[in-house]
Amino acid sequence: MIEPGGIIGIIGGGQLGRMLSLAAAELGYRCHIYDPHERPCAADVAARFTRAAFDDVAALKAFAAAVDVVTYEFENLPVEPLAAIAGALRPGAKSLAVAQDRAEEKSFIEASGGQVAPWVAVSSLAEVEVGVQAIGLPLVLKTRRYGYDGKGQAWVRSSAEAAQAWAAIGEQPAVAEQGVGFEAEFSVILARGQNGSTAFFPLPENRHEDGILRRSSVPASASIERHGPAARAMSASIAEALEHVGVLTVEFFACVDGPIVNEIAPRVHNSGHWTIEGAETSQFAQHIRAICGLPLGSTALRGAGATMDNLIGSDVDRWPELVAEAGAAVHLYGKGEARPGRKMGHVTRVKPFA
Ligand code: AMP
Repeated sequence: MIEPGGIIGIIGGGQLGRMLSLAAAELGYRCHIYDPHERPCAADVAARFTRAAFDDVAALKAFAAAVDVVTYEFENLPVEPLAAIAGALRPGAKSLAVAQDRAEEKSFIEASGGQVAPWVAVSSLAEVEVGVQAIGLPLVLKTRRYGYDGKGQAWVRSSAEAAQAWAAIGEQPAVAEQGVGFEAEFSVILARGQNGSTAFFPLPENRHEDGILRRSSVPASASIERHGPAARAMSASIAEALEHVGVLTVEFFACVDGPIVNEIAPRVHNSGHWTIEGAETSQFAQHIRAICGLPLGSTALRGAGATMDNLIGSDVDRWPELVAEAGAAVHLYGKGEARPGRKMGHVTRVKPFA
């Protein structure tokens, strides 16, 4: 167990690292951020900051030697250099390796008993065309690596669009995945402790626009809640197969025949930001508890429900009106320039118990 007063190393200095650092501070820990950028927003609230490349093995070793445990808030890290600090890493490199390659991820989910949309791995236009024949239309091409928030994706709605979609994703190794008809999207956010104990947060129902999360709400509607038991069982098997320690998020499509896994994130997740005010333990505090070997906290709702709205790009300009709104918890990430599509903050509204 890492006792309060210990130092938590976090690779990645974005808003997730920032909120992890704030939660760690509440439990008496200090955080050390590792990020290649000049002034990552997590470093503003952490005790220490190392600026170094993600593949700098010497810098990673020095970082690991200066902290009690290393975690990550970003899954597109090169895995190989992390072998040098494997003993300190929670969750382990396996969670990272599986989550950062969509083909590995889908195979792993299937092998763990999870359901995914029909898919094939493709690495040429000819293979995309074979994929169209095998799984039908519409389908979506997603690059195997480095895709997020709908980036690195292109839809194929007719055979004639295959070449255009293949060009749009940069002709990179990809998966071709069947377009799923779903009622809604939701996520399972769970934490797994070092002793294998598991705690699930209430299911957030998620609404995306242009591939980016717009709103998460709890409790989810009844039509989603009915998928809860199957979705939680699949998520727990995935977490166990990964030997995951920490928070794990599994994103789902709610389909007529049952829940289908879209993707996993081996970390705290945007669809769990409502837990800061809306749950007895936030996802960030829960992750810190899990990686430090503390008991997991209660995930019960603190009100009748909660909604979290992202402030994307220029949405953040509304901050004066939002901070003046009673009951609105405004979180601004201190990121500077509000570029289109950039997550600048979020606002959570908890509905009190009746
Ligand atoms: P992703 O980056 O994989 O999470 O995809 C971003 C969003 O695109 C998802 O949240 C869905 O709204 C949509 N999407 C992705 N894959 C599919 C699919 N196979 N069928 C239907 N919609 C999808």
